[in-house]
Amino acid sequence: MSVLINFKICDNSSDCSGITACPSGAFFWDEKKKTIAIDDSKCTSCGACEKACPVGAIRVAKNDAEYKKIRIEIDNDSRKVSDLFVDRYGEQSISPAFQIPAEKFGVQVLESTKPAVVELFNNGSIMCLLNSIPVKDLFKGADIKYRKIEDEDGLLAKRYKVKVLPSLLFFRDGKLTGKIEGYYSIGDKKELLARVKKLI
Ligand code: SF4
Repeated sequence: MSVLINFKICDNSSDCSGITACPSGAFFWDEKKKTIAIDDSKCTSCGACEKACPVGAIRVAKNDAEYKKIRIEIDNDSRKVSDLFVDRYGEQSISPAFQIPAEKFGVQVLESTKPAVVELFNNGSIMCLLNSIPVKDLFKGADIKYRKIEDEDGLLAKRYKVKVLPSLLFFRDGKLTGKIEGYYSIGDKKELLARVKKLI
């Protein structure tokens, strides 16, 4: 066994980038157990899945000593998935974690087996960059899939009648179930949390 998955920071999704990256079919989605899994008999330890994971949740060990070292690192990791959500306030840059191109919206959001939340934003908008929704704490403990999409051509905003960016869109079984449009300041957090609670 050479591949280790840090489920503390992995959102364990059927469209995990490790599945697409794996050239031998060793990395797969176990539909029965609803989890990503590795077939050790097919794994060649090539490392492609490790490179494909945007949050560093997949690790490939080259030998037993490395395996033990990584296992300890994972056991001692105190982060959670929500710790990777980046609030885009002030000078903090936009994290690539959870960001997907608009073309992946269908497969990653509409076909998601979990309820999904998408943050649509516009990288060219100063309001989006400095005053984005503080997402990190909004979904604590919720079993959702979170993704961010820069809606450059505005097609998704048009499709879901979004008037202002950044906005959060909530989906279940491929259907839009709710929207929170516009940015919120830290002072509005209580109100925002109450709205999120109703939508997930
Ligand atoms: S190390 Fe290579 S072969 Fe093994 S699961 Fe990852 S991508 Fe597939």
